[in-house]
Amino acid sequence: MRRTKIVATIGPASRDPEVLVRMVEAGMDVARLNFSHGTAEEHAEIALGVREAAGRAGRPVAILQDLPGPKLRIGPVHDGVIEFKPGDRVTFACGEDFEGDARRLSMSWPGLAAAVDPGEIIYLADGAVRMRVDATRDGDGELEAVVEIGGTVASRQGLNVPGETATLPSVPEEDLVHLSVGERIGVDLVALSFVRRPEEIEDVRRHTRLPLVAKIEKPQAVERAEAIVRAADCVMIARGDLGIELPIEEVPIVQKQVLALAGALARPAITATQMLDSMVSSSRPTRAEVADVANAILDGTDAVMLSQESAVGHYPVEAVAMLASIAVRTEQVAPYETWNEHRVRRDRRDPGYTVAYSACRAAHELGLAALICPTLSGRSARLVSAHRPTVPIYALSPGRETVRRCGLMWGVQAASLPRIEVTEQLIEASARRVVELGWCKPGDRVGITVGLPSGRPGTTSLLQIQTV
Ligand code: PEP
Repeated sequence: MRRTKIVATIGPASRDPEVLVRMVEAGMDVARLNFSHGTAEEHAEIALGVREAAGRAGRPVAILQDLPGPKLRIGPVHDGVIEFKPGDRVTFACGEDFEGDARRLSMSWPGLAAAVDPGEIIYLADGAVRMRVDATRDGDGELEAVVEIGGTVASRQGLNVPGETATLPSVPEEDLVHLSVGERIGVDLVALSFVRRPEEIEDVRRHTRLPLVAKIEKPQAVERAEAIVRAADCVMIARGDLGIELPIEEVPIVQKQVLALAGALARPAITATQMLDSMVSSSRPTRAEVADVANAILDGTDAVMLSQESAVGHYPVEAVAMLASIAVRTEQVAPYETWNEHRVRRDRRDPGYTVAYSACRAAHELGLAALICPTLSGRSARLVSAHRPTVPIYALSPGRETVRRCGLMWGVQAASLPRIEVTEQLIEASARRVVELGWCKPGDRVGITVGLPSGRPGTTSLLQIQTV
């Protein structure tokens, strides 16, 4: 059984129903819809395709909606691409109603000229092209920049100004529109881009009850990582923008720090971007990429993510299968004993943490076959998962949404179980259900975590050891 979860971005290379089924069969646990691209209709169609593929493959698959957030972009450019050379002077102007060229580019945010000062750096083309702001004309919302490092820039690509975007709206109006599209098409989790403060997560919570994934990709988010991880339900180390917003050599250090923090606070973490980048065009990854995936797992990531590889690459199914193979092998040498003892900062006010820790110890010391977590919200499965037991974690829930959300939690397999209010009956039904699902054999000894009274989320306080 593989414990590490696989998130794959769906795009032109993977939206075909047959490809989606093969990706689910190869191990995709979460399908990511990137709302920076595509229309509401296209996302709705992909979501339907993912649900059908999951049904055909007989496995739950969660849908993660990735909101663009306050991402700055350039507008369309003449012939789709422009080549910039060092020394070129470029004017950035507002409005998307003209096609940019090598002298004049449009930008998505009218406030940029007022937000930057001469001398500041602007990056285009994923950080490949660097320009220095030479002059700003706040009155007409324009700024001039000189190219320092040249390269090719394509229509509507992102524009990064490391650090200074404090005056950007934290939750853009468009994100709220996307959010309602997401609710309509039935997404399970929502990722927030360019988070800078925990309050931004609270702002979005006022508009949705879905679990929120905070993407760490701004220096301000790194500075406030603990408060942001606490405010969120999950976290994503979004290495693409992080590697532009911070010096690129900081990326592995931030990755390790955020993974440790997510573990300490029992929040599932996704490590994202360029994990198997060469598989966009090659059927085999590089050794360095394989090592990157393995190291993220050994550092405690819950999930690894494909972006371009599965959205536009030539080998979306093979890339999922490759992540699965690396995960299965790496998990054989993971430091379970250390994780179990030291990974989570257990909250003394909350017995749920101690029950989760004790369940993992019991699994180890009593040689249990599995840990079973009947759960309403998914919380008890998340706390057990954070302690990284050596045995499978089976989450059982009356909520279909909860079953799918468990898709992001390391080591958790989830299925439905009717709502039962009496604790003894819940234990018996759970034991029967895991046998019925073929997950346990009659005679297996398991640990079951439950709450008292059952039927209320967040009350997990008992660990029952029994034979199924
Ligand atoms: C990233 O920047 O690494 C990321 C995952 O976000 P996006 O794909 O939206 O740029």
